[in-house]
Formats: sequence, structure tokens, C-alpha cells
Amino acid sequence: MAGPVASASSVDPLGLYLHIPFCDAICNYCNFNRGLLDTELKARYLDALGREIDAAGDGAPVDSVFFGGGTPSVLAPAEVASLIERCRARFELAPEAEITLEMNPEGASASRLDGYRAAGVTRLSLGVQSFRDEELRRLSRLHSAGRAIEAFSLARAAGFDDISVDLMVWLPEQSVAQWLESVDTLIRLGPDHASLYLLELYPNAPLAEEMARAVWSQAPDEDAARMYLDALERLDAAGYRQYEISNVARADHRSRHNLKYWTDGAWIGFGVGAHSTRGGRRWRNVAEVGEYVTRLARGERVVADSRTLSAEERLADTMFLGLRLTDGVDLAWVARRHGVDAWTRWGAELMPFVEGGLLERDERRLRLTRQGMLLASEVMQVFVD
Ligand code: SF4
Repeated sequence: MAGPVASASSVDPLGLYLHIPFCDAICNYCNFNRGLLDTELKARYLDALGREIDAAGDGAPVDSVFFGGGTPSVLAPAEVASLIERCRARFELAPEAEITLEMNPEGASASRLDGYRAAGVTRLSLGVQSFRDEELRRLSRLHSAGRAIEAFSLARAAGFDDISVDLMVWLPEQSVAQWLESVDTLIRLGPDHASLYLLELYPNAPLAEEMARAVWSQAPDEDAARMYLDALERLDAAGYRQYEISNVARADHRSRHNLKYWTDGAWIGFGVGAHSTRGGRRWRNVAEVGEYVTRLARGERVVADSRTLSAEERLADTMFLGLRLTDGVDLAWVARRHGVDAWTRWGAELMPFVEGGLLERDERRLRLTRQGMLLASEVMQVFVD
């Protein structure tokens, strides 16, 4: 997708997000809304999810559906097909809609992948995290590097021509060279898209305790910066273009769904804890699976809180989410959409970042440099305060 940071309007197609909160095992660093797979609970949850989609469906145009988790690949292809059909019945699902499913490598088999293709999934996001077994073990992941490579090959053989691979960087005991081994393996495999996520350690994460016990540490900050910059350089050379702080893609393979989050788009999130933003309103579902299932079984609403965004919040969101993109923010577009000249408003606070080489400003756009992306949270703070 080339061009302006956002041309979204209320008539632009929606994205639908479906949260699947079940996993075969719980990883030691995970802070997502998930729990261990319970087949009976899963059946009741899918029933509830279907009811929520039915109740919300208003025939609006939709051009992306994203199954996230948790581990959506714990669903059988028939379950995925039935949810997609539910979305199609209640929304105007574009024939060329991007339909993404997050998959863990250990769940990949030829028949399952064929089933997902037949169900209508067009894009797979593979949670590889590392191509080094030692690192995968430290993260308590169920798959090995070999299994991840096999899963990728099986997905290609099943006909998936839009595959993203997730890698995590700054892992315990990981050196710059070891991180770049994973990046090089990814490049050799040749997915269409890749996401590079920094490991964030939550204070109560079991991994934090294991690290303390085993005396594992993370590389110093300057090495973390090198990991990020060197990986992007190698990916650039291999034909991947960075388009967002953590995301790179080959031509025409940017994630349509995720771009909605960064370009003032609209989406509805279904499932436990899911967030939605549409028509200037933002809401969030109840976070607990039992409560979600019970409420829907009784025909009750599952929204935990909902509010109308103020003009100020919408403007701040446009700025700090837009700056996540390498295209940056189109200031003329912001002025038209929000009636505010962003440079007049924030120029004095942003100027030191421009002078320090973290931000670039031309007559039209404002964007973070790659160095600036390393310190994005400091720059974004200007819009949050
Ligand atoms: S598979 Fe993903 S969602 Fe599930 S526990 Fe691991 S990191 Fe969390």
C-alpha cells in the first residue's frame, strides 16, 4: 500500500478481529489473554463468538478478517470455515478480503493447512520467534527450529502465497550474531512478510524468575539497537521493505488488517477481551472467558466499557499511530481531517527530535527515521501528554 498515512473514512471497509484465547501450552513470557485448551470450553466459546458476530453484523463492507490469539490454529479447519461464513452472512465480506490466521508451527500439517485454505484463509502468520533451538527452549516454546521450517514448507506446498513469520529479538542470552542467524534463516526461507518483536519482560512472567535463577541476561541496550538496525539492513538487502516499526514486507504484502490499526481505520474485535474502534467510539469486551460465554448464552451484551473518543484523543492517535509507519504522517491530511495544523501545535516540542536526527520533516510529511524508531516512545510522548 503506497501513499498517505491514512485515507480512512467512515465508509472505508472494516476489519474484523476474532480472538481465540486457547493454547496447547502457556509460554513463560506470555502476557496475552489466553488459557490452556479445554475442548468443552472451546465449543461453548465458539458458539458465543458466533452469537456475538450475529448480533453485531450490520452488512457493513469488510476487507480483512484476522484470527488472533492465543493460538487460533487450535481450531479445526471446519471451525474456522464456520466463523468465516458467519462473518460473510452478517457483513459484506469482499471477495478478495485478506483473511489471516495466526498459527504455531507445531500445529502445522498438510491436511490442516489444506483445510484452512479451503475454509478461505488467505494469509498465515507463523509464530516462529527464533530459528535456534536453545532460544526456543528458553522461551518454553513447543516447536523446534526444524519444525518451524517444515511448517513453512508445508504452508507453501498447501498454496499459501502470503505468509508472515514472527521473530522475537533481545532474548535471554542472545548475542547479536545469534539473532542475525535467525534473521538469515528467515531470509533464506523467503516469507512474504515478517514481524520483529522485542521481548518484553513482565515483572510476574515465569521467564523473569527463570532468568534470575539461571543467571540469564539480555544483551546491553546498545546491542539491542544493533540487533534491530542490522536485521532491517539485511532484510532491506533481501528485498523486504520496512513499513512499520516492527514490520517488513515484500511488495504488495503489507498487512491490510494491521494497517487499519495505524491509519485511523475502523475494526470490530470479537471475543474475550477484544477491542474495537469504529465511528469515533472505542469499546472493549469482558476479559474473562467464563463471563463472556455465560453472558452471550443469556443473550446479554459483552462490552465491558465503551466511550466516545474526544477530538483531542483522535488527533493524538492519528499522530502517534501514524508515526509508527515509515510513510509517516501526512500533515495536510491531518489538517483536513482534524482541523489542526500539527506542526503549529507540536512543532516546538518536536523540533529537538528533528535536530537530533530522530524525526524528518518535509513540506508534507513527518516521519521517524530508523534511529528515531528505536526511541519512538520518547517522541510519541509529545502527543500523549
Ligand atoms: S502460544 Fe502465544 S498466546 Fe499462547 S501462551 Fe504462547 S505466546 Fe502466549
